[in-house]
Amino acid sequence: MKALSLQGLSKTYKGGTTALSDVSLDVEEGAFFGLLGPNGAGKSTMIGIISSLVTMSSGSVEIFGFDLNRHEWEAKTRLGLVPQEFNFNGFETVEQIVLNQAGYYGIRRREARVRAEKYLRQLGLWEKRGDASRTLSGGMKRRLMIARALIHEPPLLILDEPTAGVDIELRRSMWAFLREINARGTTIILTTHYLEEAESLCRKIAIIDEGRIIEHTSTQALLNRL
Ligand code: ADP
Ligand code: ADP
Repeated sequence: MKALSLQGLSKTYKGGTTALSDVSLDVEEGAFFGLLGPNGAGKSTMIGIISSLVTMSSGSVEIFGFDLNRHEWEAKTRLGLVPQEFNFNGFETVEQIVLNQAGYYGIRRREARVRAEKYLRQLGLWEKRGDASRTLSGGMKRRLMIARALIHEPPLLILDEPTAGVDIELRRSMWAFLREINARGTTIILTTHYLEEAESLCRKIAIIDEGRIIEHTSTQALLNRL
């Protein structure tokens, strides 16, 4: 089963910038996949399209076999997104943010509470559940975005630069957490600037540059050539 399949994906923004040119890419279920590339390569555009935040100009996206253009809800519910920027209401509490997300997916209140506790505990945020999110440290905000992305238990988790700007200790504990959920079956795709991060986590990687995939290989094969 393919967790993600991109076919001939292109995006030209209104101003005329072509961010993606005819990108095709398959990610198998269970993979831990890294998307690398310099600034402006098109990584955020690709993630934006996959998570329905950016419209595609042409091509198709399938998430676990569901075409985003034809079965948007089926596709969307199979995906959890951890964006690069904190985008929650800073006045809502940690628990409220996660429960609201559960509500969006139609998860019943009782079940939502059970899951909220489970994921907030796993991410070391349970003690903070009653705090307004704006009072959290940067590392906690990142962990809150992960908890929020997991609440509907998506089989595919996509993280955009998950450890940019976090200290080494938190980075290592986030790596351990991601490895664990991948080992339990969640397919993970992340973008990163850190080759060390891709090397440590990802079995396969694609390198994107100027809107095109210029390399798609196992991480080991790439490292052997460096
Ligand atoms: P990356 O995430 O790899 O840094 P992006 O997808 O953000 O790359 O950007 C790819 C290209 O698209 C860049 O040239 C960028 O300036 C352009 N771009 C990104 N977002 C927009 C937008 N909303 N409107 C116009 N151009 C954009
Ligand atoms: P920061 O100051 O970096 O924003 P905190 O000081 O709030 O972060 O807490 C960071 C600590 O939380 C980490 O050192 C780590 O030991 C702990 N932690 C517990 N569970 C997790 C997890 N699942 N992912 C990341 N960190 C976790």
